[in-house]
Amino acid sequence: MPESAARQPAVQKRSGRTVALVAMYPTPDPAMPEFISNHGVRMVEATLRASELDGLDVVVFDLHDAASDELTEALIDLNPDVVGFSCYLWSFPLFAEVAEQLYADDPSRFILFGGPSAQPSMLDQPPFHTTRNVIDALIVGEGELTFLELVTLQNRQPQDIATVRGIAAWDGQAWHQTKKRPLADLNELPSPYVMQLVPPGGLGVLQTYRGCPYTCSFCEWGTMESPKRVRSADHLALEFDAMDSLGVDGALLVDAGLNLNSKAFEQLDLAAQRTDFFRNRKLISEVYPAKIQDPHIRFLERIGNPLVGIGLQSFDNDVLANVERSFEESRFISNVQQLTEVARVAIEIIMGLPGDSPEQFRESYYRARSFPCALRVYHCCVLPSALMVRSPPEHALNYDPVSLKIRSCLGWSEDEVRRECEFLNAEAHGNTGQVGDYFWVFSAPKNPAIQPWRSTAA
Ligand code: SF4
Repeated sequence: MPESAARQPAVQKRSGRTVALVAMYPTPDPAMPEFISNHGVRMVEATLRASELDGLDVVVFDLHDAASDELTEALIDLNPDVVGFSCYLWSFPLFAEVAEQLYADDPSRFILFGGPSAQPSMLDQPPFHTTRNVIDALIVGEGELTFLELVTLQNRQPQDIATVRGIAAWDGQAWHQTKKRPLADLNELPSPYVMQLVPPGGLGVLQTYRGCPYTCSFCEWGTMESPKRVRSADHLALEFDAMDSLGVDGALLVDAGLNLNSKAFEQLDLAAQRTDFFRNRKLISEVYPAKIQDPHIRFLERIGNPLVGIGLQSFDNDVLANVERSFEESRFISNVQQLTEVARVAIEIIMGLPGDSPEQFRESYYRARSFPCALRVYHCCVLPSALMVRSPPEHALNYDPVSLKIRSCLGWSEDEVRRECEFLNAEAHGNTGQVGDYFWVFSAPKNPAIQPWRSTAA
């Protein structure tokens, strides 16, 4: 173990409240080029600032790109007492390196990791074993109130942080998790848009509820609670007014789905009608195909530029059963037909799902291309709170421990995964598609080969 990352016994942690929050944007998505703010970190910032805690000083590092040495130097110059990293798949390796360098410089700083990749299972990947020794706590689940409680603590020794709900801490031998924190009431969390903390322009990030009623095992939301508390129309309308003053082009709805929480949808519809926010703006949202109803279609009709993603993952129910999901063909076809009449639609499938195979995947690919919709194909990733901890041993997952992309698994050899990547690259280059780090994007075919809703019914 390098000396820098060795855990030092009983280091006294600082009690000051100069806080650095660090987040980094992913590589711009060729299919969604608009600026989208680092919403998670802005939510934490809003909660901290609204608390008006004595002695609090918050600095946000809102990074587009960074080298570890430069970022470490900038943080050492600022000399914060608390450093919170917002960790996603793309930023985790960089932040792990910076955390180790900061600890080597001064182990008394209080180092926190939050965000979807801040999970014990991720730190247990061999490349990150040394990082476990330098992080004081992982904020597991939503971060606003947990972060505020941790910053409020006068003493930040292991026995003190063990009193805070929603954290995991490494003691040099094992992880210790405290009680789960229930999902917050979004009406009580301050909005970073209303507080004018978000840079202007681009797309606003809109959230009307948290959690998901489903448990798809490849998805990090599959372990969250079923959503109960939703944002009120009044709260949403205030946020729309604030987004309007920041000159956003529209909004990205980050809910599990537009149609997965009827109370949240009612409130969103009310706020949208009251403010007319979407009349000439874009709304990007996911919908769950089996649950489309007339009110959702009427809502989309009133949006200036609606873009809808349908997370199908595979057309094969046996494949979907392996990841705790299902699909009803006749309803899917008629719902896609309805949606394509009012919105631009993209079907989303996954390449490399355990229990799928190259042959079945190709069938899903060609069937998806027969719809008058764009297509997004994702390389299956073994996410820390999803497949990494939920896949049964027979799935035989073999994945890159840094990028988390699947290399082989039940139904797929390494060669087959590689060949399918080459196939998708070639299809993207030949069909005006685009290749991203983790996905391939194809525009809607001008002349779909078949009209699936007719051919299947025949
Ligand atoms: S894939 Fe969609 S429906 Fe399934 S758990 Fe994730 S958010 Fe919920």
